[in-house]
Amino acid sequence: MAVKTISVMIKPASSLCNLRCRYCFYADISENRTVASNGVMSEETTDIIIDRIAEALEGKGTANVSFQGGEPTVAGLPYFIHFAEKMKEYPDIKVNYALQTNGTLINEEWVKFFADNHFLIGVSLDGYKLNMDHFRFDAENRSVYYTILDNIRLLKKHKVDFNILTVVTKDLAKHAKALLRFYKDNRFQFVQLIPCLPGFHESTDAFALTVNEYASFYIEFFDEWLKELKNGNPISVNLFENLYGMAHGQPPYQCGMLGMCMMQYVIESNGDTYPCDFYCLDEYLLGNLHEHSFNDFNASQTAKKFIADSKCTKKPCETCRYVKMCSGGCRRQNICYLTDEECAYQKVLDHVLPVLSRM
Ligand code: SF4
Ligand code: SF4
Ligand code: SF4
Repeated sequence: MAVKTISVMIKPASSLCNLRCRYCFYADISENRTVASNGVMSEETTDIIIDRIAEALEGKGTANVSFQGGEPTVAGLPYFIHFAEKMKEYPDIKVNYALQTNGTLINEEWVKFFADNHFLIGVSLDGYKLNMDHFRFDAENRSVYYTILDNIRLLKKHKVDFNILTVVTKDLAKHAKALLRFYKDNRFQFVQLIPCLPGFHESTDAFALTVNEYASFYIEFFDEWLKELKNGNPISVNLFENLYGMAHGQPPYQCGMLGMCMMQYVIESNGDTYPCDFYCLDEYLLGNLHEHSFNDFNASQTAKKFIADSKCTKKPCETCRYVKMCSGGCRRQNICYLTDEECAYQKVLDHVLPVLSRM
C-alpha cells in the first residue's frame, strides 16, 4: 500500500568521521557489528535509495530525508548535489532535507547548497570552549571550536535554518546555568539537548548521566530557561517544546516520547537498513535496499519484533501517573533516567509540567 509520507535517515559516509569525540555513540555501535564502516555511498546505491523512496510513495507524497553519520559531509558536496538532482526525477515528491553535522568541514559552497535546497542543519556544539575542547576534537587532538562558530556564522549569513545539538555529559550536567548563558550570548534560538548514554552493552560509563544527574540538570536548566523566557529571551529547547505541546493535547514530534518505537529506516552507505540509529547492529538488520523495498522491511519479523520489544516493563512505570503520556519513553535513552527502582524523568515532569500547562 502506498504511503503519503516516508522518513529516512541516510548515512552517506557510514561511520567515517574527521573528529574523535570521546563519547561517540556511532563509533560504539559500529564497533559492535561485523563491519564497522561501509565507506562512502556509491552513486548506484544512492539512486536505488531514491527509487525505493519513490516506490514506497508510488511517486507522490512527502519524503523527510535526513543525513547523519559518522560525519555525513565526509561524503563530499558532489554526493549531495547528485542526491538533490536525482530526487528531481520525481517532481510529485516534496523533499524535506535535514543534515546533522559536526560543523567542521562545511564552507560557503556547502552553505549556498543548503540554502538553495532548504536544508535544516543540526550543528553539534557542546556549549562553551572549555567543555567542547574536553570532549570534541579532531584526529590530531586539535580544538575545532572556532571553526564551528565561524561556520555557524556562514549559516546565519545565508539564512540557513539550523539548530544546536548538545550532548549533556556528566561534566556538563553540573553547569546548566553556564550552558544556558552560552546559548543566550551566542543568540542560539533552537537547541536540542541529548543526554549522553553509556555504551550499548553497558549500564554506565565515565561520561553518561546517572539518574540523579539527569533530574538535577533538567530541573536547573528549566528554571534558568524560564527566567530567560520571562526576561524576553526565548530559546526553543526540544524537550520543553515537546512537553509544552503534550501538556496542551498535541502529539510529540520526537520519537520515543510516547514509549513506542517507530521505524526510522536508518540506511547505511551500502544500502543496509536498520530500524533506529541506536540499533544499527547485525541482529536488527532489516535487509538491503538493493534487494528489498520499504514494504518488505515493514513486513519482516525483525521489524515486528523491534516494535513489540519496545514496550517498557520497568517497575516505576506500573504505577506512574504519567504512564499514558510516556509509557517508559525511548527504550534506549531511558537507560539514563529509569531504573527498576526510580525514574528521574518523572521528577522532571513533576517540576516542569505544571508550569508548561499554565503557559
Ligand atoms: S562528530 Fe559525531 S560521529 Fe564524529 S566522532 Fe564526534 S560524535 Fe562521533
Ligand atoms: S529506540 Fe528510541 S529513538 Fe529508537 S525507535 Fe525506539 S523510541 Fe525511537
Ligand atoms: S516512570 Fe518514568 S518512564 Fe515510566 S511512565 Fe513514568 S515518567 Fe515515564
